[in-house]
Amino acid sequence: MTLKDQVAVVTGAGRGIGHAIALRLANEGAKVACVSRTATNAERTAGEINAAHPGAAKAYAADVADLASVQAAVAQILKDFERCDVLVNNAGVTRDGLSMRMTGDDWDTVLDTNLKGAFHCMQAFQRQMLRQRSGRIINISSVIGLIGNAGQANYAASKAGLFGLTKSMARELASRGITVNAVAPGFITTEMTSVLSDETQKSILSQVPLARFGTVAEIAGTVAFLAGPDAAYITGQTLTVDGGMVMS
Ligand code: NAP
Repeated sequence: MTLKDQVAVVTGAGRGIGHAIALRLANEGAKVACVSRTATNAERTAGEINAAHPGAAKAYAADVADLASVQAAVAQILKDFERCDVLVNNAGVTRDGLSMRMTGDDWDTVLDTNLKGAFHCMQAFQRQMLRQRSGRIINISSVIGLIGNAGQANYAASKAGLFGLTKSMARELASRGITVNAVAPGFITTEMTSVLSDETQKSILSQVPLARFGTVAEIAGTVAFLAGPDAAYITGQTLTVDGGMVMS
């Protein structure tokens, strides 16, 4: 129970990695604000947490790409929970396609959600964290932001941008006891990766020394570590959780 009495906010908590993170942080003792674009998905995750830990979770429908939507959700979260100790910016989308054919809309949707969405949430919660003089911010990036990928120029740019954003925010907020780190997952089994063809999956696996996809629980465990007391002296870093795919 490393997060007893703390309040965690997880974006994209409705499915996949965000769902696993929300459950894991609740199991560590945190109260969890489950934020997702689709209300029913956020409510399902909050319901699962409340079944195990009565009263520990609430659901919020918000579009992280939309500043007004984020501000409204943040105001409600702070009214309900009165603080924010851990912010996990996990909400993310893909709109894949070769750059030659990529539409402006595909570019904007991915950048606005994955990069600007994380900035909106950090900006909206930082006043509260500054007042508390403590906080953990964890941005879920991707190995694709480190190595790039044909057909994912928009996604790679958004995830690479998160590294610079993470380091800048870490420098801005360190003096107030707030840490900001990134996690770069490799290929994790979720709905986002289930759309990949068998051939693509095989080709990805051939680049993974541990020869398997990662699990959502493995990413949630890394986030729990960065949110917990053992990571108090870590800031501005990226933890790559990818079965050895990218070694630097
Ligand atoms: P997923 O299964 O597609 O789930 C994405 C979640 O983000 C959903 O809950 C979705 O909301 C939410 N979301 C999307 N756009 C949103 C918006 N504008 N506002 C609020 N919530 C929004 O994806 P995943 O595989 O779990 O990925 C989670 C994160 O990990 C993403 O940032 C992704 O880029 C990153 N990642 C994933 C992998 C992988 O292999 N899966 C690898 C590296 C990095 P709704 O449920 O309400 O629609």
